[in-house]
Amino acid sequence: MKTDIENLVRKNILTLKPYSSARNEFKGVASVYLDANENPYGSPLPGSYNRYPDTAHQALRERLAAMNLLQPDQVCIGNGSDELIDQIIRIFCNPGRDEIIVCPPTFKMYETAAAINDVGVKKIYPDEDFQPVPERVLREATTCSKVIFLCSPNNPTGNSVKPEIIEDLLQCFGGIVVLDEAYIHFSSQPSWVSQLSKYDNLIVLQTMSKAWGLAGLRLGIAYAHPAVIDFIMRIKMPYNINSVSQKLGLDALKNVEQVNQWRNEILMERNRMAQAFEDIPYIEKVFPADANFILIRVKDAETLYGHLRKKGIVVRNQSAQYGLRNCLRISIGTPEENIKLIQELINYKE
Ligand SMILES: *Cc1c(COP(=O)(O)O)cnc(C)c1O
Repeated sequence: MKTDIENLVRKNILTLKPYSSARNEFKGVASVYLDANENPYGSPLPGSYNRYPDTAHQALRERLAAMNLLQPDQVCIGNGSDELIDQIIRIFCNPGRDEIIVCPPTFKMYETAAAINDVGVKKIYPDEDFQPVPERVLREATTCSKVIFLCSPNNPTGNSVKPEIIEDLLQCFGGIVVLDEAYIHFSSQPSWVSQLSKYDNLIVLQTMSKAWGLAGLRLGIAYAHPAVIDFIMRIKMPYNINSVSQKLGLDALKNVEQVNQWRNEILMERNRMAQAFEDIPYIEKVFPADANFILIRVKDAETLYGHLRKKGIVVRNQSAQYGLRNCLRISIGTPEENIKLIQELINYKE
């Protein structure tokens, strides 16, 4: 669908003159750099970090674009996808006036980022299988509903959103559709990155924090129409991706085989875990899982959580989320970790 992106962007962002740093004013290669007030000698460390990083993180963008058959101007990096969520809200939503739409239970960060920006949150509850309901969304949406956040596979429920629902919203919702694919590597569904050319209003978020094993480096990825990427590049802090993260992120992308192998092991463990959970009488429900975690419902989540905690095992209690009373979210660990958890669950007497 063709959307006039500029019509959705806040006026002050449209007219913003971006900060111009030393490193984006001079782009070539020189032998003497006296433009950024850096320490010319180096760093008091084995490595040298005295130079500012590439503001456009060009090498990473080129590599990610090539891996996804896109152009570099359709990709940008955030300091974690959390930063991208905040940036998207700031580009499109006027504080005190506009709102985002979320379909709880889902990732809480959308709501938190909106609240920080004094942007409203309209909650449109999904059906009993946690599938967003486009008719409900479209009925409730107003001209102030600038962005809808969908998460597929969804955290914390673990299900993927049906493609026809995503397509419906892309075609009929008047604002930006953010599809958070943080767990796409574990999904039976393909990524929507390949559909970008069809939908100007689609932003796909991915991250190197989960399957890629780089949560500590803070590398989130946005794939979108070049106009959207351009706005993110204009409002971002000039040096948001540090040089260590840029370099190690690029190195990691060369090792996709390792990541795929871990993914396959995690998927096998997920099946084994789901099976084991099914056989435990006090687990009332094992929700279908399309990510690297499984949501379960028990009689008393708080007590079980405390019991596991005492045994040195931390899971996530999701009871505070809409529709998830007595639900625990359990990440898939190594086979040894999973065996330890299952053993404790079997030993646990209600
Ligand atoms: C973990 C997670 C993220 C955060 O990713 P970072 O890149 O580490 O900020 C984003 N979305 C969802 C749904 C997540 O579960």
